Amino acid sequence: ALMYRVDGWGAPYFTVNSNGDVSVRPHGVNTLPHQEIDLLKVVKKASDPKSLGGLGLQLPLVVRFPDILKNRLESLQSAFDFAIQSQGYEAHYQGVYPVKCNQDKFVVEDIVKFGSGFRFGLEAGSKPELLLAMSCLCNGSAEGLLVCNGFKDVEYISLALVARKLHLNTVIVLEQEEELDTVIDVSKKLGVRPVIGLRAKLRTKHSGHFGSTSGEKGKFGLTTTQILRVVKKLGQYEMLDCLQLLHFHIGSQIPSTSLLADGVGEAAQIYSELVRLGACMRVIDIGGGLGIDYDGSKSQDSDVSVSYSLQEYASAVVAAVRLVCDRKGVKHPIICSESGRAIVSHHSILVFEAVSASSHDSPQFPSSAPGIEYFVDQLGDDARADYRNLSAAAVRGEYESCLIYAEQLKQRCVEQFKEGSLGMEQLAAVDGLCEFVSKAIGVSDPVQTYHVNLSVFTSIPDFWGIGQLFPIVPIHRLDERPAVRGILSDLTCDSDGKINKFIGGESSLPLHKLDSNGGGNAEHAPYYLGMFLGGAYEEALGGVHNLFGGPSVVRVSQSNGPHSFAVTRAVPGPSCGDVLRVMQYEPELMFQTLKHRIEEFADDGGSSSLALANGLACSFNNMPYLAAASSCSLTAAAA
Ligand code: PLP
Repeated sequence: ALMYRVDGWGAPYFTVNSNGDVSVRPHGVNTLPHQEIDLLKVVKKASDPKSLGGLGLQLPLVVRFPDILKNRLESLQSAFDFAIQSQGYEAHYQGVYPVKCNQDKFVVEDIVKFGSGFRFGLEAGSKPELLLAMSCLCNGSAEGLLVCNGFKDVEYISLALVARKLHLNTVIVLEQEEELDTVIDVSKKLGVRPVIGLRAKLRTKHSGHFGSTSGEKGKFGLTTTQILRVVKKLGQYEMLDCLQLLHFHIGSQIPSTSLLADGVGEAAQIYSELVRLGACMRVIDIGGGLGIDYDGSKSQDSDVSVSYSLQEYASAVVAAVRLVCDRKGVKHPIICSESGRAIVSHHSILVFEAVSASSHDSPQFPSSAPGIEYFVDQLGDDARADYRNLSAAAVRGEYESCLIYAEQLKQRCVEQFKEGSLGMEQLAAVDGLCEFVSKAIGVSDPVQTYHVNLSVFTSIPDFWGIGQLFPIVPIHRLDERPAVRGILSDLTCDSDGKINKFIGGESSLPLHKLDSNGGGNAEHAPYYLGMFLGGAYEEALGGVHNLFGGPSVVRVSQSNGPHSFAVTRAVPGPSCGDVLRVMQYEPELMFQTLKHRIEEFADDGGSSSLALANGLACSFNNMPYLAAASSCSLTAAAA
């Protein structure tokens, strides 16, 4: 557990139990010891063909813990409640969840449900997000704030105004100055009085990866001059009372509370100025940015860590708003935040399996290939000299020289192979000799490549796109010292489809040897790894590179009884047919085409054609990932 820093990034939700498995604490610090859930047991249950009504989900698997989601929401709310109460702040906190972080229906519905006691709202950044937010709030808490951010056209603005007509607590936040004309125009046509917010471009900027959103040259928001023009125009249309909210977003993963207080303070000044200019201001919306400590280092110098707690964040925000408003004699505004990462990251764990490990560090010498001494006479003069020098250096114990001669020998033999004067067996023998030398001298690269049944592009897109690191840990065998170090290589035919950077600045991960299942075959006992803290953005961003679709999903709640849990939902990931449909294919037609071809060409007709067609149907219905040997397949059907 120490090697993987579980105590750092995992607290208070993840720990390692006495079985050596990752244990989930669904209620955070309030989890009683008997409520802990062994993650390995969840994975076994989800993938067991005999449980969950015979569903037998394929990996990769996302395991969601709604209890964690609930705990995150309540922790955020109570951190602000505490800061407000202890600082004598005279307005309340109103959280909204930015659905872009994870638009999954069950995640959004859970958030609305768990947050209904404190009227937690939603934030949308596009038309489909607005549609889903509207319907979820209708079914949940209609008083929760509905913040409409993002670039808007007439249709978006009309939809937001319809939401107001439906008595949803909707605010249209102007992201660009031009949106104002549309808001004025459409609200007149629809006969709705809009509530308007504006997004300010702050001068405060954070320097980390996610900071490019902020600063004077940031992508979003209105400049000081534009804000003044908006106020003037609203005044001209007698709509200044509609302007009620100031929004800004410093960037995700704000590294420190000092930067946070700086930005919030600047925004509070703008807020106070808007009050002075006559707007009916009520809400200051501080955007997202509450960070996650992905590597457990509590450092403000890293994009994957932050140096503050939830409570320190909330207290810094409340203090910064209060200071400015008190100085300016402005009534304390409702504080709204749009935390996404901090709400949904912890609740979902991606579990995947290592299916094989490359063996390029195991010595191939002496091997079944002919020893190099049998074909020394085929080597060129230089290569032969290298071989002789290598042998002599080995006898003298001059290891540095051994390495140099071995490397020279290898290069010359590769040249000879390219010219056609050495065969494959001979080249393999040379490779084997060189590996043997480095192994014997103890300088061989001990890093193995573990092949994982996963697509990095689909499931960890931020690793590929922006180099973001997530904690990755075997979810079992943690009571056993890892014997090797490895990098993870995914299933895609893409050299970027690998994970070779890990938290703590490591370029490889301590891993256990794949256990043989006995019987001398290549099969091994399953070795499961988990990627943690990826509940925000990763599922929402993932693409279908190589047509690998999303993972299977189970939803797991803590239930009565010691260490017991209930799987409250189980959904297989998209099938091959589903991902083909994304690219405009029609799997049913494809199947028919291939079936006709079977009928035309399958040799003995009758049952074998039928078996082939059944097998083909399986291929469309199965997930694109590597399947367990027992599952429905072409060969199984044909047999
Ligand atoms: N609000 C806005 C406007 C954003 O752009 C973002 C993310 O970039 C968020 C909220 C969510 O931020 P975070 O996930 O850091 O909480």
